[in-house]
Amino acid sequence: MTATLTIKLPFAGADEARGTTPPPRPGFASWTAPLTGLPGVTAAIAARAQVLGIETVGDLLLHLPSRYAAYDDARLVRDAANGMEVAVRVTLHSIRVVPTRKRGLRLVRAVVGDMSGRMEAVWFNQQHLVRMLSPGDELLLRGTIGPGTPPRMTVKAHEVLGRGASEGLHTQGLVPVYPATEALPATRLREMVDAARPYAHAATEVLPAWIRERLGLMPIADAIIAGHFPRDAKEGGKGRLRLVSEELVVLQIGLLAMRKSEATRRKALRLVPTGALTEPLRGGLPFRLTAEQERSLADIARDLRRPVPMRRLLQGEVGSGKTVVAALAICQAVEAGAQAALLVPTETLADQHLRTLDELLAPAGIAPVLITGKVPAAERQRRLMALSTGTASVAVGTQALLSTGVRFSRLGLVVVDEQHRFGVEQRQQLSERAAVSDDVGGPETASHILYMTATPIPRTLALTSYGDLEVSSIRGRPPGRSPVETRWIRAEDREDAYAEVRSQLRAGRQAYVICPMVGDVNADQSPLDEGTDDAREAVAEAERLRDGPFREFRVGLAHGAMKSDQKRQAMLDFANGETDVLVATTVVEVGIDVANATVIIIEAADRFGLAQLHQLRGRVGRGKEPGVCLLFGDPTTDDGSRRLEALTQTTDGFRLAELDLTIRGEGAILGLRQAGPTDLRFARLSRDRKPLAQARHVAKRVLAIDPRLERPEHVLLRRAVTERFAELPRLLDA
Ligand code: ADP
Ligand code: MG
Repeated sequence: MTATLTIKLPFAGADEARGTTPPPRPGFASWTAPLTGLPGVTAAIAARAQVLGIETVGDLLLHLPSRYAAYDDARLVRDAANGMEVAVRVTLHSIRVVPTRKRGLRLVRAVVGDMSGRMEAVWFNQQHLVRMLSPGDELLLRGTIGPGTPPRMTVKAHEVLGRGASEGLHTQGLVPVYPATEALPATRLREMVDAARPYAHAATEVLPAWIRERLGLMPIADAIIAGHFPRDAKEGGKGRLRLVSEELVVLQIGLLAMRKSEATRRKALRLVPTGALTEPLRGGLPFRLTAEQERSLADIARDLRRPVPMRRLLQGEVGSGKTVVAALAICQAVEAGAQAALLVPTETLADQHLRTLDELLAPAGIAPVLITGKVPAAERQRRLMALSTGTASVAVGTQALLSTGVRFSRLGLVVVDEQHRFGVEQRQQLSERAAVSDDVGGPETASHILYMTATPIPRTLALTSYGDLEVSSIRGRPPGRSPVETRWIRAEDREDAYAEVRSQLRAGRQAYVICPMVGDVNADQSPLDEGTDDAREAVAEAERLRDGPFREFRVGLAHGAMKSDQKRQAMLDFANGETDVLVATTVVEVGIDVANATVIIIEAADRFGLAQLHQLRGRVGRGKEPGVCLLFGDPTTDDGSRRLEALTQTTDGFRLAELDLTIRGEGAILGLRQAGPTDLRFARLSRDRKPLAQARHVAKRVLAIDPRLERPEHVLLRRAVTERFAELPRLLDA
C-alpha cells in the first residue's frame, strides 16, 4: 500500500474561511451596492456580469452555483504520482515561457516545491502568468501528474495564496461551479462571490423565526454562504433549501392572498341551475357523460351556486370531452338567468367553436352569437345590442370580446378555452374585465370564470403557476375512441414508413404531415406567432411529398403565414376529403377534427415539446379506425431521445406532463410568457415537491393568523410578497 498522506492545511482560519467567518458588518444598503464596490471589479467586469442579470452585490450572492466540483485536500509533492489529479501547496521557484514547435502554442513552465520535494508545473498559452507570478509566491495548484522525475503537473487551476481570496477557493473541497459566460468565466465569478461574502449579512431576513423553525431552515446569511461555499454536500443542500423554501413561501402567500381577496372583494351572481335547459341538452347527447365529466360538472355547478366568483381550471386532453362540460355549464348559467361568454385564442377557432356550440346548445334553444373583427358593422351592431339588452344569452369570440366596448346585461360565466399559457397577471386582468356593473350603478359583480386547457398540468405547477385556481381534471378519453400507436422512425426506415402511409391512403384514409417550428424546443410557440421560416419549411415539404412519396395523392398545405381564409379553406378541403394529405405547421394543434385521418407524421419531432407532440397525435384516432403517429427525428441530445421514447411508451397525457416537467423544466412548459410573479428562480418543481407542499401549508397558516401581514415579524415578508405581486397591496388592504 502506498502511503498517500492527505495533509490538513496548516493554515490558520482555512476552515473558517470556507464556512462562517464573522465578517465586518456592512450597512444595510450594501446589499444593493454596485458590483464595482468589490475589490478588483472594474466597470468592464460589472458590465459582463450584467449579462447574467447580476447588477448588485445582492444579485451576485443570489447567483447560486449550478453544482460543486468535489476536490480532495492538498497533498505533498512527494505523494503526487503519475496519472493522479491532485492539489499541492507549493512555493514558486522559477517561471518562464517556453516556445514550442507547434504554431501558436506556448508553454509556461515553472519549478515549484514544498518541504517534501520539487516538481514542474506547466500551463498552456498563459504567458501572462510570467508577469503575475514571482519566485517566492505561495501557490495552490490543481492538475494531473504526468510521468517522469521530477513529476510534472499539467495545471488545471491555480491560486496565489495571501492575495485576499480565500485559500482553496478554486482547488479544494467543494468548489462552486457557476452558470457563467465566456467573458465572465466561473473562476472570476467565484472570486467575486468570495469577495462578496461579508455582504451576505446584509441580506434581508424575510422569513420570521417561527417559519424558519417550523421548516428547519437556516438564517438567510448562513444559507447564502452555505449555498456558495458549503463544507459538505449536506450543508450546500440546506443552504439551497432555505432559498427554495423562501421563494415558495412568498409565492404561496401571494397566490393564496390573491385568491382570497378575489373571493371577498366582489360578489358573484349566485347561479342556481333549474335544469330547464340542461336537461334537454343532456337528453340530446348521443352518449352518457363519463364519471369524470360528471364530477367536473358537479364541481362547476357547486361553484356557480355560490356568491363567490369561481376561478376554476378544467383540464383534460384534446378529445376528453371538455367542450360538452363547458356547454352544460353555459346552459346552467343561462337557465339561472345570466349570460355566458366563450373566449378562444384566435378568430379561426372562434368560428369553429361557434359551430360546435351552436350544435350542442340547439336542443336547449340557445343560439350563440359570434363577435369577431370580421362581422360586418351593421350585423355586429345588432349582435352587440342583443348582448347589452340580454336578448342574446351566449357570445363566442376572442378576448377582445371583453375589452372592446362590448356590454353584457348580466354576464355570469366566462369560459376561456385553450389559454394554458396565461400567466397569473393576465388572469387577474381578465377578472377585472369580466366584472360587470348594472346600469343603475349598483356594485360591480364578478363573473364566474372557467379556464379550459388541453395540456394537462402537473400537480406541482397547479400549485404554483395556477395556484390561484381550483382544478378539475378529466383523465383519459371518452369510451369509443380508438387507440393511437406511436412509433419513432429512424432515418433509415423513412421509406418503409411512407410505404405504410401510402397503403392507408389507398384504403381511403387521410394523413397529416406536421412540420416543425424553427428554433429550439423551448420556444413553445402558440399557433399565433408562427414565423415565416416555419412556413417555408412546410411549403418545401409539401413540394417534396407531391413530387415524391405521395405523388399519387392530393396534398394540401396549411401554415401560419397564409391568409386566414386560405388556411381555413385548406383545412376544410382536408376535412371534406378533397385532399388526402395535409402538410401543416402546428396550426392543426388546436381545433381541427377529421375522423377519417388515421396517420400523423411529425417531422423533426425532437424539436417539439412533449405536451405538444401529445396534442398533435390526438388529431388521429378520432374515428373508428386506430390511429398511427410516426415520429421522424434524430435527436441530438439525450433529452430529445428521452422525450420521443416516452411518447412511444405512454398515452397518458398526465404522466407525460410530469415527464416533460422533469426533462425540460417548468419554464419550457409554460412557454415564453414574459417573466411573471410565479416564475421560479431557486425552486425546481420536479425536485422540490416537498418544500412546495410545506410552503403551501405555512402560507395558509400565515394568512390565517395575520391576513394582512401586519404583525411586526411579518413586515419583511409582506414586502417580499408585494414585490412579487404588484397588485397585492391594494388587494390585501381591500
Ligand atoms: P375536448 O373539448 O376536450 O377536446 P370534446 O368535448 O370536443 O373534447 O369531445 C371530443 C369528442 O368526444 C366530441 O365529438 C364529443 O361529442 C365526444 N364526447 C364527449 N364526451 C363523450 C362521452 N362521454 N362519450 C362519448 N363521446 C363523447
Ligand atoms: Mg376542445
